[in-house]
Amino acid sequence: MSCDFAQHLNEAQLRAVTAPDGAVLVIAAAGTGKTRTLTHRVAWLALERGVEPRRMLLLTFTNRAAREMLERAMQLIGQDVGGLWGGTFHHATNRMLRRHATLLGYGADYSILDEDDSTRLLKACINELGLRDKKFPKAEVLGSVFSLAANRGADVAETVADRFGAHPVDLTAILKVHTLYEQRKRALNAMDFDDLLVNGLKLLQEHESVAARYQEQMQHVLVDEYQDTNKLQNDFVDLLASGHGNLLAVGDDFQSIYSWRGAEVQNILSFERRHPGAQVIKLEDNYRSTPGILDVANRVIAGNPEQYQKVLRATRPAEVKPVYVKLVDGGHQARYIVGKVQQLLDSGAAQPSEIVVLYRSHYHSMELQLELTRARLDYYLMSGVRFFEQAHIKDVCSLPRLAVNPADSLAFMRLMEMLPKVGPKKAQALWRDLGQHVNLRDAAKRAQLTKLLPKDAQPLWAEVDAKIFAPGEGEGDVLDRPAELIFRLVEAFYRDYAEETFENAEQRLEDVEELMTFAAKYDDTAAFLSEMALLTNLDAEQNLHAGTPAQTIRLSTVHQAKGLEWKAVFVLWMVDGMFPAARSLEEAANEAEERRLFYVAVTRAKDYLWLCQPRMRKTREGGVMLCPPSRFLAEIDPGLLQEEKAGGMGAVPRWSRW
Ligand code: ATP
Ligand code: MG
Repeated sequence: MSCDFAQHLNEAQLRAVTAPDGAVLVIAAAGTGKTRTLTHRVAWLALERGVEPRRMLLLTFTNRAAREMLERAMQLIGQDVGGLWGGTFHHATNRMLRRHATLLGYGADYSILDEDDSTRLLKACINELGLRDKKFPKAEVLGSVFSLAANRGADVAETVADRFGAHPVDLTAILKVHTLYEQRKRALNAMDFDDLLVNGLKLLQEHESVAARYQEQMQHVLVDEYQDTNKLQNDFVDLLASGHGNLLAVGDDFQSIYSWRGAEVQNILSFERRHPGAQVIKLEDNYRSTPGILDVANRVIAGNPEQYQKVLRATRPAEVKPVYVKLVDGGHQARYIVGKVQQLLDSGAAQPSEIVVLYRSHYHSMELQLELTRARLDYYLMSGVRFFEQAHIKDVCSLPRLAVNPADSLAFMRLMEMLPKVGPKKAQALWRDLGQHVNLRDAAKRAQLTKLLPKDAQPLWAEVDAKIFAPGEGEGDVLDRPAELIFRLVEAFYRDYAEETFENAEQRLEDVEELMTFAAKYDDTAAFLSEMALLTNLDAEQNLHAGTPAQTIRLSTVHQAKGLEWKAVFVLWMVDGMFPAARSLEEAANEAEERRLFYVAVTRAKDYLWLCQPRMRKTREGGVMLCPPSRFLAEIDPGLLQEEKAGGMGAVPRWSRW
């Protein structure tokens, strides 16, 4: 089988694909064929150089990307590339560790802890050390700080001090938790995700014969999305390639969006220093998007002048300009998009799988999910759990659930287990002692509950109870008003709880706000709960039947959309505080990363791009909050966009040219 490489590739791509042995860095902006270059390099090595696939290591960011690339390479080569090592960094290190774990004191059959497992283990460590206290950081929070330290290859104490900055924390106690956590994992013969990277690198660094073996085996190392590698991954790659020096890395500093997880764009910038004699190839022709979309992309990134500037040149003919549309609020935005999606489908301009809606944070998609469900348009969610199935949504709904059904033991236990010193066992005992029936309308029963609680929880719960059941504004029983009930729970208790429990509490509390807005439409708690349950079930059912994401439109965070492309892209909530996200704006470096994220969003589009800017958000009280347009919109010359006037509040959407 042969392949006409010159036919598939432009001159610069071909140079990278056919480069002689040694290090090559392809640094190029979005859609210029970096990933395509990697697959062709694999094929070229196999076909023209006779390199066996098992002597190549192809590292990518997600398993899906790895699979796609392997399939593509297989098509080009016309034979199986079965022996090729392709996958994520975690995959590769795990494969090595399975063979050599004993060298590091683990059994070869070590288990891998997923995030939930590691959080539980951390929780157990905190309890064992007697540190479970309102003021002590929660397991999730500590887990993410420990993880950041591991991925940066940084000192734990320093990372902790850095993370908690202004807040006084007991550093010694936190380090004790860390030590105990490490010991426990050892005792369990288990590694968490970070350990796979840490130990994979350690294996090569500390055991020369192992390193030599893999350097010998992996004659060619290829890395996609190189801008998002962290220190551990980078050291791992450098070490593996250090013997023969055959390393092809492709990346785009414009698209570095994981610094919050320890990624260091510096790895790209210092490549030539670390690999003297490396060839650096730039690609400038973009094959993905129309010129109108690229003009916008180039403008967007020009707002980060400190970046290594590269301009995207269009290869496609000019079509329509990207659309900028102002909308009244989130509901209007959702209806507008549903209308546009329907037009795209009806006119045959796009298949469902060629359409994506992108957003900065998962919760931004909530109204759209509701609207799509109503319109019976199936969708595939590429990120996060469905809105109503998230832990914090279930947390705050435990109170209305118990209000409606005094026999709902699950809701009762969920509620109680949020209290200090109440674990599953204690919650079970409480339930039993209360006669397996807790009617919240019965003040005597509530008093009995408070009395039965452990000392540490009693005063807290007494206060919460008083606040929730205090006579307040508004008519009728608070138990019949779901939005008010959730609001009181949040104010009396859940806000503090979330802040201590979740690393991303702010975002979760925004979700809860969104839920309250939804709940405000109901003056009957049971109706609210059943609508919620139905939406959840309907979703689940649709997923079950519609199944393959190939036939549905996608909803995704921008982070999850990296490296992918769609014919039509909608970007939601282009307002300051949402995109860019409020919490990312405290430092200039964060604003720059948000801008890169916006660049990633824009460059996913092949033909059609919509930037949606609602003017206001509904608040829980039924009022409105004005939203300033995203600062990124102001950076785009108005001439580059076609502004569309959307119809009134959800009127039939106007036709626009495709
Ligand atoms: P990203 O930065 O978003 O990951 P990328 O640089 O990896 O983008 P690819 O996904 O490899 O870009 O390519 C973008 C699109 O352009 C793909 O559809 C690809 O098939 C097409 N393409 C790339 N190079 C060429 C070429 N020389 N001729 C025709 N099409 C090309
Ligand atoms: Mg790519």
